[in-house]
Amino acid sequence: METVQAQVLSHYRSELVERIRAHGGILEADSLTVKLAKEFGFCYGVERAIDLAYAAKKYFSEAAPNTPIYLLGEIIHNPEVNDQIRNMGIQIISPKPTEEELSRLKAGDAVIIPAFGTEVGTRKKIEEKGCIPVDTTCGDVMSVWKRVRQYSKENVTSIIHGKAKHEETKATTSQARAYGSGHYLVVFTLAETDYVCNYILNGGNKNEFLEKFKGAYSAGFDPDIHLQAVGVANQTTMLRGETEEVQRRIKQAMIKKYGEPELDKHFRFFDTICGATQDRQDALQKLLREPMDLLIVIGGYNSSNTSHLAEMGEAKGLRTYFIRNASRLESREKIVHYSLHEKHEIVTENWLPDPTAR
Ligand code: SF4
Repeated sequence: METVQAQVLSHYRSELVERIRAHGGILEADSLTVKLAKEFGFCYGVERAIDLAYAAKKYFSEAAPNTPIYLLGEIIHNPEVNDQIRNMGIQIISPKPTEEELSRLKAGDAVIIPAFGTEVGTRKKIEEKGCIPVDTTCGDVMSVWKRVRQYSKENVTSIIHGKAKHEETKATTSQARAYGSGHYLVVFTLAETDYVCNYILNGGNKNEFLEKFKGAYSAGFDPDIHLQAVGVANQTTMLRGETEEVQRRIKQAMIKKYGEPELDKHFRFFDTICGATQDRQDALQKLLREPMDLLIVIGGYNSSNTSHLAEMGEAKGLRTYFIRNASRLESREKIVHYSLHEKHEIVTENWLPDPTAR
């Protein structure tokens, strides 16, 4: 990894960002002031994943030049980084490879597992094929897995606050089923949490429950049986405040149903928001206390981390533009940005306020 540092830096270092940092996070030009959040850029998990992918490329190019290197899906949720990886000759296959893709893999091929990990079954298939896994799974993701495995061994259902279709959550839920008898249920919103709490307290229509959470629970999950002892964990990149609210509401439901002295038998919680996510949310929270005309959040549109940062700006009532890269700043008048509500890019004219109108 050390020997590829210079190459990684040459691809991702920004002189502009360094200049802003050197000036206390502020860049001023005429009537425009740009403030950079204190925590900005790749987290340590992503830095490590990128370094490992570059190192794998270098290692195999030198030791066994004809070895194909595959990547399961995206190394991280950032289109620029994935394009760069592709340009290096690393072949991207599905996060959960299809039969056709699996048939192409041969013993000795290298397969990179992304920072958010992969499902237990996928890893097993890769190993059965005799491929060499280059595992870049972040340690913070693995600590969620550890917690979920523990719940599962103790026959406790994992309630995971996250997006059921996110690769990290899929990898995490696969851990629940692989190492014990526990089930899992993924909740994403507070409204879903309230629905679950109400079911814990009052029961309800089982078919409706299963329909509502389709794709977000383990095979054989029965809300009448498997919500009696639950452990809450979360996708590492959720909003801290929301995750705390999810666990608080479920805890209250359990206290109401079974009484405080019995709580330990029915409820567990482990905060699995990663440190880097928290630092970024804290840094933005601090920045949002300062007067600003608008906020620009830069990152992949499918990144949970950056989406939450954009949500924070919107929740503050600040004009927020979520862009994937500098090309979206088309001109002083026009910006192309992602709408969290419409789930696609939209165009906004006159996005920069007129300084003379202040
Ligand atoms: S768990 Fe945190 S540090 Fe690790 S890759 Fe995800 S966001 Fe980065």
